[in-house]
Order: sequence, then C-alpha cells, then structure tokens
Amino acid sequence: MAIERTLSIIKPDAVAKNVIGQIYTRFEQAGLKIVAAKMTQLSREQAEGFYAAHKERGFFKDLVDFMVSGPVMIQALEGENAVLKHRDLMGATDPKKAEKGTIRADFADSIDANAVHGSDAVEAAQVEIAYFFPEVK
Ligand code: GDP
Ligand code: MG
Repeated sequence: MAIERTLSIIKPDAVAKNVIGQIYTRFEQAGLKIVAAKMTQLSREQAEGFYAAHKERGFFKDLVDFMVSGPVMIQALEGENAVLKHRDLMGATDPKKAEKGTIRADFADSIDANAVHGSDAVEAAQVEIAYFFPEVK
C-alpha cells in the first residue's frame, strides 16, 4: 500500500468542544502521523477559495459562514492509505448517517457543523495541503 498524505481540518464546532486531542489520538491510533499543523481563524476569502468546488451549491454561504465562525485546527496527515483511512475515521458527511465510533458520529451536531474535513482523493489532498502549507514539500 502506498504512503499518502491527506489534509484534515478540525472545524470550529469541534475546536469549541475542546476535542482536538481526542481527534488527534484517533489519527495516531490509526497510524496517521501529523506532518504539519496550525491553528488559525480563516478569512472568508480563504474559506471560499478552499471550498471553491462547492461554489454553486445551495449550502455554500452557510458552509463559509460556519468555517469562519471560530478557530480551526488544520493538519497534514501521512500514512499508508491515508486518504481513505482518514475518511473512514471521519464517517459520513451527515453525522446522522455516520457509523458509530466515527469522529462525526461522536462529535458532530449537524451536516453544517460536522466536526472535520478530509480530502477525498490523493490529487485533491495535494492541492489542499499546498493551499494551507505552501512551505511543505
Ligand atoms: P465532506 O467531504 O464529507 O466534508 O462533504 P462535501 O465535500 O460533500 O461537502 C463539504 C461540506 O459542505 C460538508 O462537510 C458539509 O459541512 C457541507 N455540506 C455538504 N452537503 C451539505 C448539504 O446538503 N447541506 C448543508 N447544509 N451542508 C452541506
Ligand atoms: Mg469533500
């Protein structure tokens, strides 16, 4: 299996719940290494640019409003099969549909405030990591 990198964001709801450490523990226990990390509050411009693929969707404004509503914790994770492994840890986008024991089932409140972001493919991960960590090679 290939060693991959993926981009993870702990969203404002989960940062406010003080569960960064619990989420990091899940990454570590799954064999995902944190290779870059920063806490920041996104500007609207940064959030809109990051989610540009969703620009035409009805939920875009709500998504951007939420992502700028408080600090986020952003990290690049590395490990075997990291993209899918991380998506499995996250659970489904809608926490009501997320499997028991996933991050979203345990920490998310709604499809808007759904605790975490994770890249959905290796190519997307490369773009997303470069977006927030241009210095990381
Ligand atoms: P993800 O990859 O599982 O995060 O899901 P998507 O890439 O499809 O969507 C990005 C984010 O937009 C999700 O994490 C949700 O916070 C939000 N989102 C997606 N679909 C919906 C929706 O139907 N309604 C609302 N309100 N938000 C949504
Ligand atoms: Mg997505």
